[in-house]
Amino acid sequence: MAARTDGQLTFGEIVEGSGVCAQASTVTREVIGRSNADAAEDARVHLYVISCHDCTAAKACCSFVTTAYLYEAMPIAARLVRERRDTPALRKKLKAAADAMETTRSLDYQRPCLFLDATERCTIYEDRPSVCGTHLVSSPAVACSAPDGRVEKILAPLQESAPPRFAEILAADLGLEPIGVPYFGVLPRMVLLCLEAWPRPDYASFLAERCQAAADRYRASR
Ligand code: SF4
Ligand code: SF4
Repeated sequence: MAARTDGQLTFGEIVEGSGVCAQASTVTREVIGRSNADAAEDARVHLYVISCHDCTAAKACCSFVTTAYLYEAMPIAARLVRERRDTPALRKKLKAAADAMETTRSLDYQRPCLFLDATERCTIYEDRPSVCGTHLVSSPAVACSAPDGRVEKILAPLQESAPPRFAEILAADLGLEPIGVPYFGVLPRMVLLCLEAWPRPDYASFLAERCQAAADRYRASR
């Protein structure tokens, strides 16, 4: 569904009112669902267990650099707005996490995601990005947090191929101009940019400029 982008409506109004947010959410849930089904079938055929399904360990997998497409961040931002969790304190944490993720090599980064609560529960679980929902391992859960643990990650080819394709379609629907790179970056930055763009009618130019800068910072540190 193409969104109406006449320069009068804010990003929040466009995202919520045009159905783009629901569409983005459906796409991400489908990528996760189909990828998990593929993994389950592979585990059945090759006789291994997916450790994540009954994992009670500390979620070491939620301490990595986490990335997301802008469209994956939109439902998260919408949820934060809806649940009145979009506060100055949250934005400060999003910025700090984004700055750290963008300037630290992935191998050196290990900090709990700011959406992980004290009980190891993801507080945006139903809206988590595809990179989180498709991260499954066949090695024992204890290996995930062991310094020299050998983690056997289950491949998720759909997560590699589908999200970039949908990102292009949804960026066009939102009237986002091409910036030479995908509207993609570290999760806290993408969520923060969505929240900052929420009340802005000039969101297209705002997001183009900020996403380009975020992508440059992220690439420079890899
Ligand atoms: S990746 Fe490791 S820590 Fe994360 S849910 Fe799976 S088994 Fe648990
Ligand atoms: S968004 Fe949720 S699943 Fe993803 S890293 Fe953060 S807490 Fe973990």
